[in-house]
Amino acid sequence: MISKETVQLIKEKADIVQVISQYVSLQKSGSGYKGLCPFHSEKTPSFHVNPVLKFYHCFGCGASGDVIKFVQEIEHLSFRDAVMRLARQVGIDIPISTVRSDFTIYTTYLSKVHTKYISQLNKSKEATAYLKARGFTNQQIDNFELGYCPERSTIAVETAREMTLPLRKAASFGLIKQTNGKYVDRFSNRIIIPIRNDSENLVAFGARTLGYEEPKYLNSPETRYFSKGSMLFLFHTAKKVAKKLDFIVLTEGYFDALAFHRAGITNAVAILGTALTPEHVAKISSSTKNVILCFDSDDAGE
Ligand SMILES: [Zn+2]
Repeated sequence: MISKETVQLIKEKADIVQVISQYVSLQKSGSGYKGLCPFHSEKTPSFHVNPVLKFYHCFGCGASGDVIKFVQEIEHLSFRDAVMRLARQVGIDIPISTVRSDFTIYTTYLSKVHTKYISQLNKSKEATAYLKARGFTNQQIDNFELGYCPERSTIAVETAREMTLPLRKAASFGLIKQTNGKYVDRFSNRIIIPIRNDSENLVAFGARTLGYEEPKYLNSPETRYFSKGSMLFLFHTAKKVAKKLDFIVLTEGYFDALAFHRAGITNAVAILGTALTPEHVAKISSSTKNVILCFDSDDAGE
């Protein structure tokens, strides 16, 4: 549960003009701002934002509300997820309730392992050299939160133990596996790429081998919270840009999508080693109907 006080604080701290500007080009109009309504199609602006009273109103379709309502409507999020997102943006920590949901345990576990994989990357000359050779700067490696899982790592196993998470449970979360009766990390000697869902929660990893193991690219297995058939890599950041520019770039690998983002084309996403599904298409069409396909002729995941 998020307290009323926290919700109030977020409403006060969030700059409604700045939040809405991420989706709508606003122009000054009297004491407020106006722009083309994102909720209905129009040619002359009837969508108004009042920065003093902190609400928006469209005289065309009647859409109106506060900053939380706006984020909910435009991102199709629950009230809770919209509040969580705004809290992150304005730098407010929301205490997680004492009874932690399975999903909270899942994302907490993945985040802890991720942090350790990130610090492993800094220690591995080979992994860093690989990313440099692919054109990544240190800044970009940080921004994309890339990591490294060493050979025969037990980092994810140890993290589960630290959290007193049963290893069978951790295995169902996809980061560890049993080999000869012993648990080890699923990934070995691989660059780690975080995969986030549409609410920016870490739900899986992509992993690129530094050696010669096949497959070259390996994802976390499907879990309760990670479905390759419905997820698109980087969609959480690409969707609003795609909506604004009215097109999306669809690639078939993380590094392809990351290359676009590094070049400033942030409306690029990637499928995760599967064919394009109707769920993918539905997801994309919530942002735009225009898709630029960037697929090469290699095997899936190359
Ligand atoms: Zn409207």
